[in-house]
Amino acid sequence: MIKLTTRLIKFLSKKEHTHFINGEYTKANGTNQISVINPATEEEIGKVAIGNSEDVNNAVAAAKKAFAYNSDWRKMSPDDRGKIMYRFADLITEHSESIAQLVTLENGKLIKDARSSDAGGAAKTFRYYAGWCTKIEGETLDLSQPQKGGRQNFAFTRREPIGVVAAIVPWNFPISITAWKVAPALAAGCTVVLKPSEETPLSALLLAELAMEAGMPAGVFNVVTGDGRMTGASLTAHSDVKKITFTGSTFTGKIIGKTAMENVTGVSLELGGKSPAIVFDDATDLDFAAQGVAAGIFRNQGQVCVAGSRVYIQKKVFDKVLTDISHAAEKMKISHGFDESAQLGPLVSKGHLQKVRQYIETGMNEGATLVSGGKDNPMDKGYFLKPTIFSATDNNQTIINEEIFGPVLAAVPFEDMEDALRLANDSQLGLAATVWTKDISKAMAMINRLEAGVVYVNSPVRSDPNLPLGGYKQSGIGRELGKVGVYNYTTLKSVNIVY
Ligand code: NDP
Repeated sequence: MIKLTTRLIKFLSKKEHTHFINGEYTKANGTNQISVINPATEEEIGKVAIGNSEDVNNAVAAAKKAFAYNSDWRKMSPDDRGKIMYRFADLITEHSESIAQLVTLENGKLIKDARSSDAGGAAKTFRYYAGWCTKIEGETLDLSQPQKGGRQNFAFTRREPIGVVAAIVPWNFPISITAWKVAPALAAGCTVVLKPSEETPLSALLLAELAMEAGMPAGVFNVVTGDGRMTGASLTAHSDVKKITFTGSTFTGKIIGKTAMENVTGVSLELGGKSPAIVFDDATDLDFAAQGVAAGIFRNQGQVCVAGSRVYIQKKVFDKVLTDISHAAEKMKISHGFDESAQLGPLVSKGHLQKVRQYIETGMNEGATLVSGGKDNPMDKGYFLKPTIFSATDNNQTIINEEIFGPVLAAVPFEDMEDALRLANDSQLGLAATVWTKDISKAMAMINRLEAGVVYVNSPVRSDPNLPLGGYKQSGIGRELGKVGVYNYTTLKSVNIVY
């Protein structure tokens, strides 16, 4: 059994947590709280305050003050801003075990994934964007504008930080997705108010502590805990917020998009996915493809936006590949996240487990064939589910059209490339896709024609700080990560000096 770190024991001993505003924990204005539940044991690990509009006002005011023209943060050179961000990344690495353990406690995920994806991923992202502080640039432009008296134009653009950023994140990768937003926003010179998911708010508070220890000026990074309905809605409607960056469901994204337009606030939306994995009969190694498809859907209990939740397998190899995927799924050890040998942990919450079970029932009612798994809980306690695989021939079923966000895969056979493209693109969503083939011409044709923001060939989708991520269609607006990720948080000023 894993021993909790001393820092985490101290952090959790507080039991009741408040918002982190202007560099310190501040008393919440309201008395309402949320219980944070360990999904493996169903026990409470702490309580957080539900931020009301006054709490949100305080946080936005602190961020606005920290962004003021003569503030320490605004006056700081890009190099010094980068140094603070490098220190922050180093502190995340130094405290990675505390962060990972806390993420496992509140989210349920496997500790090895919390270490690599959340703590490790966040440190990598902060380090990557620390380097961007000194590389933000504009352009010089040749104009055709005539000037009187032989005068000339000297035109250029410059990128300025956009202002106070509201970051709203989901629970599936609470710390790494936070880093995808906070790191580029800070690199651009913005200040941030973060609203974590109500399922996973504690790790965000620990991160805010580390930001202060790294030397971030007060007010640059604030956390208001709470729910979406009140806290999230107050934050996104605040007129001093100049950019909303949101990751979550398409349903909530549409609400936030409308709210953003009330104040004409900039908005980036990273939304849901129903990503196809397409296995051709010429895949180099069909076993390797089957393992990859299984990893692509069952990692993090299927609670991954880019999860390959629909697999299209060419007819000739359909039975073999499906059998191999099922064997891989059936061999997975299901246990709590602190069991180092576990391969599948619990889902994040009771409500989410019920939602996923409902989809499994719908799949059976609509005529899909259950190949393995099912809706029974394989454990006595906690929100567990077996990896579940359906086989279907009708691409219009609910389990093939809607994002389930759990360990549920639907397999459908296809005839040829045209058929595969028709099935894969027949979706409202377009976040990611994977293609499994050894034929480079076929892979390129698929890359050209797939309606997806991210395409991986012969591998499940993985994130990298330098690789932009985002969706086509209702999977979102804008891209995160990479160069475009930092430019999301800048606004362009066009200047012409007539001389
Ligand atoms: P939700 O959309 O339910 O919630 C996301 C965040 O929005 C939470 O912090 C939530 O708060 C908050 N929120 C909810 N309602 C509002 C509102 N009206 N105004 C402001 N904020 C609000 O998504 P989940 O947390 O359930 O996350 C899963 C979803 O995220 C999936 O659809 C998944 O595909 C998507 N996702 C997309 C990614 C991408 O890069 N495209 C990456 C990862 C996930 P609270 O939790 O307190 O309700």
